[in-house]
Amino acid sequence: MNFLQRRQGAAGAMGAAVAWGIAAVVAAVAMDAREVARVPDKVVVLTFDDSSASHHTVARPLLKSYGFGATFFITEGFTFPTNKRDYLTWGQIAELHRDGFEIGNHTRDHLGITEKTLPRLAEQLALITERCIENGIPAPVSFAWPGNKFHVTALPALQRAGIRFARRGGEPEVPYAQGGGFAYEPADDHPLLIPTTGDARPDWTLADFKRAVAKGGPGRMVVLQFHGVPDGEHPWVNTPRERFEEYMAWLYREGYQVIALRDVARYVDEEKLPGDPLAVMARRTGARAPAKP
Ligand SMILES: [Zn+2]
Repeated sequence: MNFLQRRQGAAGAMGAAVAWGIAAVVAAVAMDAREVARVPDKVVVLTFDDSSASHHTVARPLLKSYGFGATFFITEGFTFPTNKRDYLTWGQIAELHRDGFEIGNHTRDHLGITEKTLPRLAEQLALITERCIENGIPAPVSFAWPGNKFHVTALPALQRAGIRFARRGGEPEVPYAQGGGFAYEPADDHPLLIPTTGDARPDWTLADFKRAVAKGGPGRMVVLQFHGVPDGEHPWVNTPRERFEEYMAWLYREGYQVIALRDVARYVDEEKLPGDPLAVMARRTGARAPAKP
């Protein structure tokens, strides 16, 4: 405002222009406030990876009964094409979409993204997007980095593919083995590098789940990552059905708002990107620079 204040002190002929300038500033501020909502105190972003059949048989009815949103990140990798005991069919994926859940992109072949595989990313994203459209599902705007490994040089390819939000793992701030991470801070985290706050593991109990959710707070969102509930094909990230039911019942009792990744749009100013997307990771790990992804 200093510039405007100085101009206010200048010749009277400038008055109208100054008034117009102030009005424009006030209007811009009001528009910002209207477009980006305050992050609620109790909000959880719920995400599921790897197209597990249990997303339809177990998660779907439970989440619907609680009115919870969620994102299901779809890949045709692993034994998806032939093993319909453990993996979703496209008919089931379309049903999840019609129920109001978000269908996200996880690359066709569960492509681990490195500098070497980067040239394949656009096609890998397009193959899932095409399958979505064939099945009456909109082109995904959310993405989960396969294997939780990210590479900053891939951000432009994600943007070109229409991806607005991408979830990574808890690394580099927290080692993978711990299944933890930081809460998402929309002012500091790049929307294509949203951290996982809690990555559910087979030996988790309700106490571990509560510990992950407790990382939320003013202006921060908890982002939870599940695989199958249960998951016969990925035992290292299996969540037994009983535990999953217990976690969801607790969120419901505690009054949490449970949303899909795309729903963070209402709390995020997508125009304001951090200059250095890795800076927030360095800040969280103290003086240490983040490990090279
Ligand atoms: Zn995955």
